[in-house]
Amino acid sequence: MALFKRDAAPEETYPVQKSEAEWRASLSPEAFRVLRQHGTERPGTSPLNAEKRRGTFLCAACGQALFESGTKFESGTGWPSFWQPLPDAVGTTTDRSFFMTRTEVHCANCGGHLGHVFPDGPPPTGQRYCMNGAAMRFEPEGTG
Ligand SMILES: [Zn+2]
Repeated sequence: MALFKRDAAPEETYPVQKSEAEWRASLSPEAFRVLRQHGTERPGTSPLNAEKRRGTFLCAACGQALFESGTKFESGTGWPSFWQPLPDAVGTTTDRSFFMTRTEVHCANCGGHLGHVFPDGPPPTGQRYCMNGAAMRFEPEGTG
């Protein structure tokens, strides 16, 4: 229970909460930069781009299941792309940085920044979840 009111950072409303120092200690530098500082990895740098096995993509920060391999598609952008997240796995906010209005996608469990979603994806949803591979890890089917 909060005994005093702090400035409401979005992170503070998520089930998993850690201080910046705790996140920094538990994540790789690149994952920390993406997940906690809204960074973007260089396109084509994530090994998850080429991941073709059946399985689940998890939040690198808290382990929440985010996307199933069956919804991944090759977008040609150099970032792992999906047309649909798992139910209730992610949340979105409006991102007005860089003089653009984009829809930011974050983990619904820890608030970690994952990427953005754009309305130019393939059927059946027409959505393109453009994710940073550094924000996720892959769990092949059957190893759960
Ligand atoms: Zn998470």
